[in-house]
Amino acid sequence: MKNSYSNIFNFNKKILHKIIVNLKKGNVVGLPTETVYGLAGNAYMSESINKIYKFKNRPKRNPLIIHYFNYKRAEQDVIMNKNFYKLYKKFCPGPITFILKRKKKSKVKFSATANLNSVAIRFPNHRVMNSLLKNIEFPLAMPSANKSSRVSPVSAKNVADEFQKKIKMIIDGGKANLGIESTVIDLTGHPKILRPGLITPENINQVLKIKLNIINNNRTSKSPGLLSKHYSPGIPVIINQKNCKKNCALITFGKKYKNKKNFYNLSRTSNLKEAASKLYEIFRKIKKDRYKKIYVVKIPNKGIGIAINDRLKRASN
Ligand code: AMP
Ligand code: MG
Repeated sequence: MKNSYSNIFNFNKKILHKIIVNLKKGNVVGLPTETVYGLAGNAYMSESINKIYKFKNRPKRNPLIIHYFNYKRAEQDVIMNKNFYKLYKKFCPGPITFILKRKKKSKVKFSATANLNSVAIRFPNHRVMNSLLKNIEFPLAMPSANKSSRVSPVSAKNVADEFQKKIKMIIDGGKANLGIESTVIDLTGHPKILRPGLITPENINQVLKIKLNIINNNRTSKSPGLLSKHYSPGIPVIINQKNCKKNCALITFGKKYKNKKNFYNLSRTSNLKEAASKLYEIFRKIKKDRYKKIYVVKIPNKGIGIAINDRLKRASN
């Protein structure tokens, strides 16, 4: 069936060719990944980087994640180390971003990395990204395809709704099945988690077998982009609640909550992975259903719950 958005396309060989032509020209394209949808541009071209920041209205001090097909392709831009290889082997392609030192001869534009001497790299696990990255000789700078500080998109329609016709090409790769942004880990020194995600501190500890640092101070100069206000659905979010009035929406978790019109359950079976995948979708649904405030029950702060609480906390700021 043809969709009603003239800028959303299904992926095929002809479209792949069109995407490549656009990226080479310095244009940006909306692309699916397993985490959330991204706004992609050629990481070796200033023009593309400028467009990404402009469209998103993103502060220039917030660096972008650079996406590669595999580690071989990233070797020319960053200095890899033992911890990186261990984690890569276990989790890639997948929802984890590594901060590594920049190589002197790196071609990644400094404007894409907020002039830092480090680069954030990721290897996405999605068939569209896979075919595309395999067929281009440059990596993609790609933040989530939403305006800065807003909720990340989990479908092609979410992207189209956010930017209207400004983005000429958005590729439909189905619902982003993980639904929450990658874990960000700084490997330039002793490993530090800068942003929690689906790959949890325990998962990482099992591989590295060290005591991991987890940063929850937003103003760390190491990760200038981790703004305290983020992931905002555009209406107030109040966390750690037990109930709410009829005119507000309550985001619930677990089977003890009834099926009420204004209750939105993240996971009836208390599955944190399911909850993470539904969070942004539910934010959008509540707004569409015209509630003016979102209350959220307490979510267990362990494993993937740490990532969910991180997003909820920022959304409530
Ligand atoms: P986003 O693109 O919004 O999903 O976020 C990516 C996050 O990764 C940014 O907000 C930064 O905090 C972090 N990041 C990206 N590049 C770097 C870098 N070179 N050094 C430290 N943190 C980075
Ligand atoms: Mg983002």
